[in-house]
Amino acid sequence: MTKPIPICGEHRLPKEWRPITFEYKDDGISIRVPNVYAWVCPADNEASFTPETVDELIVTARELLDTAKRARQRRSVLTEYVVSVGQPVTLPGTA
Ligand SMILES: [Zn+2]
Repeated sequence: MTKPIPICGEHRLPKEWRPITFEYKDDGISIRVPNVYAWVCPADNEASFTPETVDELIVTARELLDTAKRARQRRSVLTEYVVSVGQPVTLPGTA
């Protein structure tokens, strides 16, 4: 099964399937998730995530935010965390 390559509606360019760093900020807390595969416009680097990836990111961001908010409540001196689970995932569709 070949995935159709989406075209950026604004720049009329085929998007690239490649890993990016997802970033999210809420209430003074910032979350970064590196190595997330998405369709990326080569002109402005705008990323479109697949629905499955969006679902995963929402769940992950919510859990990380909870952790960070609890740490802030107890005035933890630790202000940054890096968490990894296994190897970076390569989703089907990679060239
Ligand atoms: Zn574009």
